[in-house]
Amino acid sequence: HTELRTSMASDKQVTFVIVGGGIAGVTCAEQIASQFASDEVYLLTASPLVKAVTNFKQVSKTLEEFDIEEQPSSVLEEKYPNLKVLQSAVKLLRAKEHLLQAENGQTFHYKKLCICSGARPKLLTQDNPHVLGIRDTDSAQEFQKRLSKAKRIVVIGNGGIALELVYEVEGCEVIWAIKDKAIGNTFFDAGAAQFLIPSLEADKKERSLPCKRAPSTLVSTLTHSEHWGLGSALGPDWHEGIELRGTVQVCVHNIFTLCEVDTIYTQQEFLQSQLDTKKSELGLWPTYVQLTNGKIYGCDFVVSATGVVPNTDPFLSGNNFELAGDHGLRVDDQMRTSEQDVYAAGDVCTAGWEPSALWQQMRLWTQARQMGWYASRCMAADVLEEPIELDFCFELFSHITKFFSYKGVLLGKFNAQGLGQDHELLVRCTKGQEYVKLVLTGGRMVGAVLIGETDLEETFENLILNQMDLSRYGEELLNPNIDIEDYFD
Ligand code: FAD
Repeated sequence: HTELRTSMASDKQVTFVIVGGGIAGVTCAEQIASQFASDEVYLLTASPLVKAVTNFKQVSKTLEEFDIEEQPSSVLEEKYPNLKVLQSAVKLLRAKEHLLQAENGQTFHYKKLCICSGARPKLLTQDNPHVLGIRDTDSAQEFQKRLSKAKRIVVIGNGGIALELVYEVEGCEVIWAIKDKAIGNTFFDAGAAQFLIPSLEADKKERSLPCKRAPSTLVSTLTHSEHWGLGSALGPDWHEGIELRGTVQVCVHNIFTLCEVDTIYTQQEFLQSQLDTKKSELGLWPTYVQLTNGKIYGCDFVVSATGVVPNTDPFLSGNNFELAGDHGLRVDDQMRTSEQDVYAAGDVCTAGWEPSALWQQMRLWTQARQMGWYASRCMAADVLEEPIELDFCFELFSHITKFFSYKGVLLGKFNAQGLGQDHELLVRCTKGQEYVKLVLTGGRMVGAVLIGETDLEETFENLILNQMDLSRYGEELLNPNIDIEDYFD
Protein backbone atom coordinates (compact mmCIF):
# COMPACT_ATOMS: atom_id res chain seq x y z
CA HIS A 1 0.00 0.00 0.00
CA THR A 2 2.84 2.38 0.93
CA GLU A 3 4.62 1.51 -2.33
CA LEU A 4 1.53 2.34 -4.34
CA ARG A 5 1.07 5.66 -2.55
CA THR A 6 4.75 6.61 -3.14
CA SER A 7 4.51 5.72 -6.77
CA MET A 8 1.33 7.73 -7.23
CA ALA A 9 2.86 10.73 -5.53
CA SER A 10 5.71 10.72 -8.00
CA ASP A 11 3.53 10.03 -11.06
CA LYS A 12 3.37 12.78 -13.66
CA GLN A 13 0.92 13.28 -16.49
CA VAL A 14 2.73 15.05 -19.31
CA THR A 15 1.99 15.62 -22.97
CA PHE A 16 5.59 15.38 -24.17
CA VAL A 17 8.54 13.43 -22.81
CA ILE A 18 11.86 13.40 -24.63
CA VAL A 19 14.68 11.05 -23.65
CA GLY A 20 18.32 12.04 -24.24
CA GLY A 21 20.38 15.17 -23.68
CA GLY A 22 22.30 14.91 -26.97
CA ILE A 23 21.77 17.00 -30.09
CA ALA A 24 18.67 15.10 -31.20
CA GLY A 25 16.91 15.17 -27.81
CA VAL A 26 17.77 18.77 -26.98
CA THR A 27 16.74 20.05 -30.41
CA CYS A 28 13.46 18.14 -30.19
CA ALA A 29 12.75 19.34 -26.65
CA GLU A 30 13.52 22.97 -27.47
CA GLN A 31 11.21 23.00 -30.48
CA ILE A 32 8.36 21.33 -28.64
CA ALA A 33 8.76 23.56 -25.60
CA SER A 34 8.64 26.71 -27.70
CA GLN A 35 5.68 25.55 -29.79
CA PHE A 36 3.62 24.30 -26.83
CA ALA A 37 4.52 27.02 -24.37
CA SER A 38 1.61 26.23 -22.04
CA ASP A 39 2.41 22.51 -21.80
CA GLU A 40 5.00 21.05 -19.48
CA VAL A 41 7.72 19.27 -21.45
CA TYR A 42 10.12 16.81 -19.80
CA LEU A 43 13.62 16.00 -21.00
CA LEU A 44 15.13 12.96 -19.29
CA THR A 45 18.81 12.42 -19.61
CA ALA A 46 21.44 10.14 -18.16
CA SER A 47 24.21 12.73 -18.45
CA PRO A 48 24.68 15.81 -16.23
CA LEU A 49 25.34 18.14 -19.17
CA VAL A 50 23.21 18.58 -22.24
CA LYS A 51 24.44 19.29 -25.75
CA ALA A 52 23.20 22.43 -27.43
CA VAL A 53 23.48 23.63 -31.00
CA THR A 54 24.90 27.15 -31.19
CA ASN A 55 25.84 29.52 -34.03
CA PHE A 56 23.56 27.69 -36.42
CA LYS A 57 24.04 28.81 -40.00
CA GLN A 58 22.14 27.60 -43.05
CA VAL A 59 24.95 27.68 -45.60
CA SER A 60 22.88 26.71 -48.62
CA LYS A 61 19.61 24.91 -49.34
CA THR A 62 20.67 21.77 -47.46
CA LEU A 63 24.10 22.48 -46.01
CA GLU A 64 24.23 23.65 -42.44
CA GLU A 65 27.00 24.56 -40.07
CA PHE A 66 26.87 24.85 -36.29
CA ASP A 67 28.85 24.50 -33.12
CA ILE A 68 28.05 22.14 -30.29
CA GLU A 69 28.28 23.23 -26.69
CA GLU A 70 27.89 21.20 -23.55
CA GLN A 71 25.77 23.16 -21.10
CA PRO A 72 24.29 22.62 -17.66
CA SER A 73 20.60 21.77 -17.99
CA SER A 74 19.68 24.95 -16.08
CA VAL A 75 20.53 26.96 -19.21
CA LEU A 76 17.78 25.15 -21.09
CA GLU A 77 15.29 25.51 -18.27
CA GLU A 78 15.93 29.25 -18.08
CA LYS A 79 15.37 29.62 -21.78
CA TYR A 80 12.15 27.58 -21.79
CA PRO A 81 10.23 27.93 -18.51
CA ASN A 82 7.93 25.02 -19.42
CA LEU A 83 10.87 22.66 -20.08
CA LYS A 84 11.99 20.52 -17.14
CA VAL A 85 15.22 18.58 -17.38
CA LEU A 86 15.49 15.51 -15.20
CA GLN A 87 18.91 13.99 -14.84
CA SER A 88 17.97 10.38 -14.46
CA ALA A 89 18.21 7.52 -16.92
CA VAL A 90 15.13 5.74 -18.16
CA LYS A 91 14.76 2.40 -16.47
CA LEU A 92 11.60 1.06 -17.98
CA LEU A 93 9.10 1.77 -20.72
CA ARG A 94 5.65 0.29 -21.02
CA ALA A 95 4.65 1.62 -24.40
CA LYS A 96 1.11 0.17 -24.46
CA GLU A 97 0.34 2.00 -21.21
CA HIS A 98 2.23 5.15 -22.25
CA LEU A 99 4.28 4.86 -19.10
CA LEU A 100 7.95 5.61 -18.57
CA GLN A 101 9.95 5.17 -15.39
CA ALA A 102 13.21 6.87 -14.52
CA GLU A 103 15.99 5.43 -12.35
CA ASN A 104 15.07 7.90 -9.59
CA GLY A 105 11.64 6.28 -9.34
CA GLN A 106 9.66 9.02 -11.03
CA THR A 107 6.97 7.75 -13.40
CA PHE A 108 5.63 9.63 -16.41
CA HIS A 109 2.35 9.08 -18.21
CA TYR A 110 3.04 10.66 -21.58
CA LYS A 111 0.94 11.39 -24.63
CA LYS A 112 3.94 11.53 -26.97
CA LEU A 113 7.42 10.19 -26.31
CA CYS A 114 10.53 10.75 -28.37
CA ILE A 115 13.53 8.46 -27.74
CA CYS A 116 16.87 10.12 -28.55
CA SER A 117 19.21 7.97 -26.47
CA GLY A 118 22.05 7.93 -29.01
CA ALA A 119 24.47 5.08 -29.56
CA ARG A 120 27.55 3.62 -27.88
CA PRO A 121 30.81 2.36 -29.39
CA LYS A 122 30.82 -1.17 -30.66
CA LEU A 123 33.71 -2.68 -28.72
CA LEU A 124 35.72 -5.52 -30.17
CA THR A 125 35.76 -7.12 -26.78
CA GLN A 126 33.92 -6.22 -23.61
CA ASP A 127 36.12 -7.72 -20.94
CA ASN A 128 39.61 -6.41 -21.66
CA PRO A 129 40.36 -3.21 -19.70
CA HIS A 130 42.98 -2.33 -22.32
CA VAL A 131 40.38 -1.94 -25.05
CA LEU A 132 38.79 1.52 -25.14
CA GLY A 133 35.92 3.00 -27.11
CA ILE A 134 35.48 6.74 -27.55
CA ARG A 135 32.01 8.09 -27.23
CA ASP A 136 31.70 11.12 -25.00
CA THR A 137 33.73 13.63 -23.01
CA ASP A 138 34.44 11.08 -20.29
CA SER A 139 35.77 8.43 -22.61
CA ALA A 140 37.83 11.03 -24.52
CA GLN A 141 39.40 12.11 -21.21
CA GLU A 142 40.11 8.51 -20.27
CA PHE A 143 41.76 8.05 -23.64
CA GLN A 144 43.90 11.15 -23.10
CA LYS A 145 44.94 9.95 -19.65
CA ARG A 146 46.01 6.55 -20.94
CA LEU A 147 47.73 8.06 -23.96
CA SER A 148 49.86 10.32 -21.79
CA LYS A 149 51.58 7.18 -20.47
CA ALA A 150 51.64 5.25 -23.74
CA LYS A 151 54.37 4.39 -26.21
CA ARG A 152 52.31 2.43 -28.67
CA ILE A 153 48.60 2.11 -29.35
CA VAL A 154 46.63 0.04 -31.83
CA VAL A 155 43.67 1.73 -33.54
CA ILE A 156 41.01 -0.43 -35.13
CA GLY A 157 38.39 1.05 -37.45
CA ASN A 158 38.17 3.31 -40.45
CA GLY A 159 35.37 5.77 -39.79
CA GLY A 160 35.54 9.43 -38.82
CA ILE A 161 36.65 8.78 -35.24
CA ALA A 162 39.59 6.55 -36.17
CA LEU A 163 40.72 9.01 -38.82
CA GLU A 164 40.64 11.96 -36.52
CA LEU A 165 42.28 10.11 -33.74
CA VAL A 166 45.20 8.88 -35.81
CA TYR A 167 45.68 12.39 -37.13
CA GLU A 168 45.55 14.06 -33.76
CA VAL A 169 47.70 11.72 -31.69
CA GLU A 170 51.26 12.88 -31.12
CA GLY A 171 54.24 11.32 -29.41
CA CYS A 172 53.08 7.75 -29.72
CA GLU A 173 53.50 4.96 -32.21
CA VAL A 174 50.19 4.18 -33.85
CA ILE A 175 49.40 0.83 -35.42
CA TRP A 176 46.29 1.32 -37.49
CA ALA A 177 44.39 -1.66 -38.87
CA ILE A 178 41.85 -0.96 -41.60
CA LYS A 179 39.63 -3.57 -43.15
CA ASP A 180 39.21 -1.55 -46.36
CA LYS A 181 41.66 -0.79 -49.14
CA ALA A 182 42.25 2.78 -48.03
CA ILE A 183 41.84 5.00 -45.03
CA GLY A 184 38.64 6.92 -44.45
CA ASN A 185 36.44 4.60 -46.42
CA THR A 186 33.32 5.86 -44.66
CA PHE A 187 33.87 9.33 -46.01
CA PHE A 188 35.86 9.15 -49.18
CA ASP A 189 37.65 7.05 -51.74
CA ALA A 190 41.33 6.25 -52.03
CA GLY A 191 41.91 9.38 -54.12
CA ALA A 192 40.81 11.73 -51.36
CA ALA A 193 42.75 9.66 -48.86
CA GLN A 194 45.84 10.03 -51.02
CA PHE A 195 45.34 13.78 -51.10
CA LEU A 196 45.24 13.86 -47.31
CA ILE A 197 48.20 11.58 -46.58
CA PRO A 198 50.81 14.35 -46.64
CA SER A 199 48.89 16.06 -43.83
CA LEU A 200 49.22 12.97 -41.70
CA GLU A 201 52.93 12.87 -42.28
CA ALA A 202 53.46 16.63 -41.92
CA ASP A 203 54.83 18.12 -38.76
CA LYS A 204 52.01 19.05 -36.39
CA LYS A 205 52.84 22.76 -36.54
CA GLU A 206 52.55 22.75 -40.31
CA ARG A 207 49.28 20.91 -40.23
CA SER A 208 47.13 23.86 -39.30
CA LEU A 209 47.98 25.48 -42.62
CA PRO A 210 47.35 23.69 -45.86
CA CYS A 211 50.79 23.23 -47.46
CA LYS A 212 52.20 26.11 -49.40
CA ARG A 213 53.79 24.04 -52.13
CA ALA A 214 53.29 25.13 -55.72
CA PRO A 215 49.90 23.79 -56.70
CA SER A 216 49.74 21.32 -59.53
CA THR A 217 46.27 20.73 -60.84
CA LEU A 218 45.14 17.47 -62.28
CA VAL A 219 41.74 16.92 -63.81
CA SER A 220 40.83 13.39 -64.64
CA THR A 221 37.90 11.16 -65.35
CA LEU A 222 37.80 7.77 -63.74
CA THR A 223 35.34 5.01 -64.25
CA HIS A 224 35.52 4.03 -60.64
CA SER A 225 37.60 4.74 -57.62
CA GLU A 226 39.94 1.78 -57.74
CA HIS A 227 42.30 3.61 -60.06
CA TRP A 228 43.68 5.43 -57.07
CA GLY A 229 46.42 4.29 -54.76
CA LEU A 230 46.12 3.87 -51.03
CA GLY A 231 45.86 6.80 -48.76
CA SER A 232 45.59 8.05 -45.20
CA ALA A 233 44.02 10.54 -42.63
CA LEU A 234 41.22 13.22 -41.30
CA GLY A 235 38.95 14.95 -38.62
CA PRO A 236 36.38 17.21 -36.75
CA ASP A 237 36.38 18.72 -33.22
CA TRP A 238 35.75 16.36 -30.30
CA HIS A 239 39.43 16.44 -29.33
CA GLU A 240 39.62 20.24 -29.28
CA GLY A 241 41.08 21.47 -26.02
CA ILE A 242 42.40 18.00 -25.20
CA GLU A 243 46.07 17.38 -25.85
CA LEU A 244 46.49 13.94 -27.32
CA ARG A 245 50.11 13.16 -26.59
CA GLY A 246 51.95 9.95 -25.76
CA THR A 247 55.39 9.50 -24.27
CA VAL A 248 57.69 9.15 -27.27
CA GLN A 249 59.30 11.91 -29.33
CA VAL A 250 58.47 10.74 -32.79
CA CYS A 251 55.04 9.73 -33.92
CA VAL A 252 55.17 6.74 -36.24
CA HIS A 253 52.12 5.53 -38.14
CA ASN A 254 51.96 1.95 -39.34
CA ILE A 255 48.91 1.55 -41.48
CA PHE A 256 47.74 -1.93 -42.41
CA THR A 257 44.99 -2.02 -45.00
CA LEU A 258 42.74 -4.97 -45.82
CA CYS A 259 43.43 -6.16 -42.33
CA GLU A 260 41.30 -6.91 -39.28
CA VAL A 261 41.85 -7.99 -35.73
CA ASP A 262 42.13 -11.69 -35.26
CA THR A 263 42.59 -11.89 -31.48
CA ILE A 264 43.24 -9.52 -28.61
CA TYR A 265 45.19 -11.03 -25.72
CA THR A 266 45.68 -9.77 -22.23
CA GLN A 267 49.32 -9.93 -21.15
CA GLN A 268 48.68 -13.12 -19.22
CA GLU A 269 46.80 -14.80 -22.06
CA PHE A 270 49.59 -13.91 -24.44
CA LEU A 271 52.34 -15.25 -22.23
CA GLN A 272 50.45 -18.49 -21.65
CA SER A 273 49.45 -18.91 -25.30
CA GLN A 274 50.90 -21.52 -27.61
CA LEU A 275 51.52 -18.89 -30.31
CA ASP A 276 54.31 -19.75 -32.66
CA THR A 277 56.24 -16.55 -32.13
CA LYS A 278 59.31 -15.35 -30.27
CA LYS A 279 57.45 -13.73 -27.43
CA SER A 280 60.44 -12.05 -25.88
CA GLU A 281 61.17 -10.14 -29.09
CA LEU A 282 57.77 -8.48 -28.94
CA GLY A 283 58.56 -6.97 -25.55
CA LEU A 284 56.37 -6.85 -22.46
CA TRP A 285 53.12 -4.94 -23.01
CA PRO A 286 49.80 -4.68 -21.17
CA THR A 287 47.98 -6.22 -24.15
CA TYR A 288 48.70 -7.86 -27.52
CA VAL A 289 46.85 -7.76 -30.82
CA GLN A 290 47.09 -10.39 -33.50
CA LEU A 291 46.04 -9.07 -36.91
CA THR A 292 44.63 -11.12 -39.77
CA ASN A 293 47.85 -10.44 -41.71
CA GLY A 294 49.58 -12.63 -39.12
CA LYS A 295 51.43 -9.80 -37.38
CA ILE A 296 51.33 -9.54 -33.59
CA TYR A 297 51.87 -6.27 -31.76
CA GLY A 298 52.15 -5.53 -28.09
CA CYS A 299 50.71 -2.16 -27.11
CA ASP A 300 49.61 -0.06 -24.17
CA PHE A 301 45.99 -0.17 -25.25
CA VAL A 302 43.68 -0.70 -28.19
CA VAL A 303 41.16 1.87 -29.42
CA SER A 304 38.16 0.16 -30.87
CA ALA A 305 36.55 2.65 -33.27
CA THR A 306 34.53 0.23 -35.31
CA GLY A 307 31.17 1.94 -35.30
CA VAL A 308 28.32 2.28 -32.86
CA VAL A 309 25.36 0.35 -31.51
CA PRO A 310 22.10 2.23 -30.85
CA ASN A 311 21.21 2.55 -27.15
CA THR A 312 17.91 0.73 -27.13
CA ASP A 313 18.29 -1.58 -24.12
CA PRO A 314 16.03 0.04 -21.52
CA PHE A 315 13.21 0.46 -24.04
CA LEU A 316 12.88 -3.00 -25.51
CA SER A 317 11.76 -5.32 -22.74
CA GLY A 318 8.01 -5.95 -22.82
CA ASN A 319 7.51 -3.75 -25.89
CA ASN A 320 7.16 -4.49 -29.54
CA PHE A 321 9.64 -2.25 -31.31
CA GLU A 322 10.65 -3.09 -34.82
CA LEU A 323 14.44 -3.01 -35.01
CA ALA A 324 16.51 -2.48 -38.15
CA GLY A 325 19.48 -4.63 -39.18
CA ASP A 326 21.83 -2.23 -37.36
CA HIS A 327 19.72 -2.60 -34.16
CA GLY A 328 18.34 0.93 -34.41
CA LEU A 329 14.67 1.66 -33.67
CA ARG A 330 13.11 1.63 -37.11
CA VAL A 331 11.17 4.84 -37.79
CA ASP A 332 8.81 5.73 -40.63
CA ASP A 333 8.78 8.98 -42.60
CA GLN A 334 7.19 10.70 -39.62
CA MET A 335 9.84 9.48 -37.17
CA ARG A 336 7.33 7.08 -35.57
CA THR A 337 8.54 3.78 -34.20
CA SER A 338 6.33 0.72 -34.40
CA GLU A 339 4.92 1.47 -30.92
CA GLN A 340 2.10 3.96 -30.88
CA ASP A 341 3.00 7.53 -29.86
CA VAL A 342 6.67 6.65 -29.52
CA TYR A 343 8.96 8.57 -31.85
CA ALA A 344 12.74 8.28 -32.17
CA ALA A 345 15.47 10.52 -33.58
CA GLY A 346 19.25 10.69 -33.90
CA ASP A 347 21.74 7.86 -33.54
CA VAL A 348 19.26 5.54 -31.80
CA CYS A 349 16.97 5.33 -34.81
CA THR A 350 17.23 3.89 -38.30
CA ALA A 351 15.41 5.57 -41.16
CA GLY A 352 12.89 2.99 -42.32
CA TRP A 353 11.32 4.98 -45.13
CA GLU A 354 12.19 4.67 -48.82
CA PRO A 355 14.94 7.28 -48.96
CA SER A 356 15.41 9.82 -51.74
CA ALA A 357 17.94 8.65 -54.35
CA LEU A 358 20.39 11.26 -53.04
CA TRP A 359 20.16 10.72 -49.29
CA GLN A 360 21.49 8.14 -46.88
CA GLN A 361 21.47 7.97 -43.13
CA MET A 362 24.81 8.49 -41.41
CA ARG A 363 25.10 8.83 -37.66
CA LEU A 364 26.34 12.42 -37.60
CA TRP A 365 25.59 15.65 -35.73
CA THR A 366 23.86 17.15 -38.73
CA GLN A 367 21.36 14.34 -38.96
CA ALA A 368 20.87 14.16 -35.19
CA ARG A 369 19.81 17.83 -35.29
CA GLN A 370 17.66 17.44 -38.39
CA MET A 371 15.91 14.34 -37.07
CA GLY A 372 15.34 15.85 -33.61
CA TRP A 373 13.86 18.94 -35.19
CA TYR A 374 11.72 17.03 -37.67
CA ALA A 375 10.50 14.59 -34.97
CA SER A 376 9.30 17.57 -32.91
CA ARG A 377 7.35 18.83 -35.93
CA CYS A 378 5.84 15.39 -36.51
CA MET A 379 4.74 15.08 -32.88
CA ALA A 380 3.25 18.56 -33.03
CA ALA A 381 1.45 17.83 -36.31
CA ASP A 382 -0.02 14.69 -34.80
CA VAL A 383 -1.27 16.48 -31.68
CA LEU A 384 -2.70 19.30 -33.79
CA GLU A 385 -4.07 16.83 -36.33
CA GLU A 386 -2.25 18.56 -39.17
CA PRO A 387 -0.68 16.84 -42.17
CA ILE A 388 3.10 16.80 -42.54
CA GLU A 389 5.49 15.91 -45.35
CA LEU A 390 8.99 14.52 -45.11
CA ASP A 391 11.31 17.45 -44.59
CA PHE A 392 13.40 18.79 -47.44
CA CYS A 393 16.63 18.11 -45.54
CA PHE A 394 16.12 14.40 -46.30
CA GLU A 395 16.19 15.07 -50.05
CA LEU A 396 19.94 15.37 -50.28
CA PHE A 397 22.66 14.10 -47.98
CA SER A 398 24.89 17.00 -47.05
CA HIS A 399 27.56 17.39 -44.42
CA ILE A 400 30.22 19.98 -43.67
CA THR A 401 33.16 18.83 -41.62
CA LYS A 402 36.91 19.08 -41.31
CA PHE A 403 39.28 16.58 -42.81
CA PHE A 404 42.49 17.29 -40.96
CA SER A 405 42.81 21.02 -41.25
CA TYR A 406 40.87 21.21 -44.51
CA LYS A 407 37.23 22.12 -44.89
CA GLY A 408 35.29 19.11 -46.17
CA VAL A 409 31.88 19.10 -47.84
CA LEU A 410 30.08 15.88 -48.72
CA LEU A 411 27.02 15.88 -50.94
CA GLY A 412 24.61 13.14 -52.03
CA LYS A 413 26.14 9.83 -53.07
CA PHE A 414 29.59 11.28 -52.50
CA ASN A 415 31.17 7.85 -52.44
CA ALA A 416 29.04 6.46 -55.25
CA GLN A 417 27.14 4.52 -52.58
CA GLY A 418 24.80 1.97 -54.11
CA LEU A 419 25.75 2.87 -57.69
CA GLY A 420 27.85 -0.21 -58.44
CA GLN A 421 30.02 0.33 -61.54
CA ASP A 422 27.35 2.46 -63.14
CA HIS A 423 28.98 5.81 -62.54
CA GLU A 424 31.72 8.13 -63.60
CA LEU A 425 34.04 10.12 -61.38
CA LEU A 426 35.45 13.47 -62.29
CA VAL A 427 38.37 14.52 -60.13
CA ARG A 428 40.36 17.72 -59.76
CA CYS A 429 43.25 17.71 -57.35
CA THR A 430 45.60 20.54 -56.53
CA LYS A 431 48.19 19.13 -54.19
CA GLY A 432 48.12 20.69 -50.77
CA GLN A 433 45.19 22.88 -51.71
CA GLU A 434 42.03 21.17 -52.83
CA TYR A 435 40.49 17.89 -53.86
CA VAL A 436 37.24 17.95 -55.80
CA LYS A 437 35.41 14.84 -56.86
CA LEU A 438 32.11 14.66 -58.70
CA VAL A 439 30.05 11.52 -59.03
CA LEU A 440 27.94 11.33 -62.18
CA THR A 441 25.55 8.71 -63.39
CA GLY A 442 23.71 8.89 -66.73
CA GLY A 443 25.19 12.36 -67.25
CA ARG A 444 23.65 13.69 -64.05
CA MET A 445 25.52 14.69 -60.93
CA VAL A 446 24.57 12.62 -57.88
CA GLY A 447 27.36 13.35 -55.43
CA ALA A 448 30.44 15.40 -54.63
CA VAL A 449 33.40 15.53 -52.25
CA LEU A 450 34.93 18.97 -51.83
CA ILE A 451 38.06 19.26 -49.72
CA GLY A 452 39.69 22.66 -49.22
CA GLU A 453 38.26 26.14 -49.81
CA THR A 454 36.68 25.27 -53.16
CA ASP A 455 33.66 27.56 -52.96
CA LEU A 456 31.83 25.12 -55.20
CA GLU A 457 29.33 23.69 -52.75
CA GLU A 458 26.33 25.79 -53.66
CA THR A 459 26.70 25.37 -57.41
CA PHE A 460 27.13 21.61 -57.13
CA GLU A 461 24.33 21.30 -54.63
CA ASN A 462 22.05 23.00 -57.17
CA LEU A 463 23.24 20.79 -60.01
CA ILE A 464 22.61 17.71 -57.90
CA LEU A 465 19.19 18.89 -56.76
CA ASN A 466 17.96 19.89 -60.22
CA GLN A 467 19.38 16.74 -61.88
CA MET A 468 20.28 18.65 -65.03
CA ASP A 469 21.81 16.61 -67.86
CA LEU A 470 25.49 17.56 -67.81
CA SER A 471 26.72 15.09 -70.46
CA ARG A 472 27.84 17.77 -72.88
CA TYR A 473 30.05 19.56 -70.35
CA GLY A 474 32.33 16.61 -69.53
CA GLU A 475 35.56 17.59 -67.82
CA GLU A 476 34.77 21.27 -68.35
CA LEU A 477 32.72 21.00 -65.18
CA LEU A 478 35.96 21.04 -63.27
CA ASN A 479 38.00 23.29 -65.51
CA PRO A 480 39.72 25.62 -63.03
CA ASN A 481 39.68 28.44 -65.61
CA ILE A 482 35.92 28.47 -65.90
CA ASP A 483 33.84 30.21 -63.28
CA ILE A 484 31.35 27.43 -62.89
CA GLU A 485 29.06 29.50 -60.71
CA ASP A 486 28.60 32.13 -63.44
CA TYR A 487 28.30 29.43 -66.03
CA PHE A 488 25.19 27.89 -64.49
CA ASP A 489 23.73 31.08 -63.15
P1 FAD B 1 23.97 11.43 -28.24
O1 FAD B 1 24.67 12.69 -28.48
O2 FAD B 1 24.75 10.19 -28.03
O3 FAD B 1 23.03 11.65 -26.98
C1 FAD B 1 22.34 10.60 -26.35
C2 FAD B 1 21.82 11.09 -25.04
O4 FAD B 1 20.96 10.12 -24.48
C3 FAD B 1 22.88 11.36 -23.98
O5 FAD B 1 22.59 12.57 -23.34
C4 FAD B 1 22.74 10.18 -23.02
O6 FAD B 1 23.11 10.53 -21.72
C5 FAD B 1 21.26 9.93 -23.12
N1 FAD B 1 20.83 8.58 -22.76
C6 FAD B 1 21.29 7.39 -23.18
N2 FAD B 1 20.62 6.38 -22.60
C7 FAD B 1 19.69 6.95 -21.81
C8 FAD B 1 18.68 6.45 -20.93
N3 FAD B 1 18.47 5.14 -20.75
N4 FAD B 1 17.93 7.33 -20.26
C9 FAD B 1 18.12 8.67 -20.40
N5 FAD B 1 19.05 9.20 -21.21
C10 FAD B 1 19.82 8.35 -21.91
N6 FAD B 1 29.40 13.64 -35.90
C11 FAD B 1 29.65 14.65 -36.73
O7 FAD B 1 28.75 15.08 -37.45
N7 FAD B 1 30.87 15.24 -36.80
C12 FAD B 1 31.88 14.82 -36.02
O8 FAD B 1 32.96 15.37 -36.08
C13 FAD B 1 31.67 13.76 -35.12
N8 FAD B 1 32.67 13.35 -34.31
C14 FAD B 1 32.40 12.39 -33.39
C15 FAD B 1 33.41 12.03 -32.51
C16 FAD B 1 33.18 11.07 -31.54
C17 FAD B 1 34.28 10.68 -30.59
C18 FAD B 1 31.90 10.43 -31.49
C19 FAD B 1 31.63 9.37 -30.47
C20 FAD B 1 30.90 10.78 -32.37
C21 FAD B 1 31.13 11.76 -33.32
N9 FAD B 1 30.14 12.15 -34.22
C22 FAD B 1 30.38 13.18 -35.09
C23 FAD B 1 28.78 11.55 -34.21
C24 FAD B 1 27.84 12.41 -33.40
O9 FAD B 1 28.44 12.69 -32.16
C25 FAD B 1 26.51 11.70 -33.19
O10 FAD B 1 25.96 11.34 -34.42
C26 FAD B 1 25.50 12.60 -32.46
O11 FAD B 1 26.06 13.14 -31.31
C27 FAD B 1 24.24 11.83 -32.13
O12 FAD B 1 23.40 12.64 -31.35
P2 FAD B 1 22.22 11.99 -30.51
O13 FAD B 1 21.51 13.13 -29.87
O14 FAD B 1 21.44 11.06 -31.35
O15 FAD B 1 22.92 11.07 -29.42
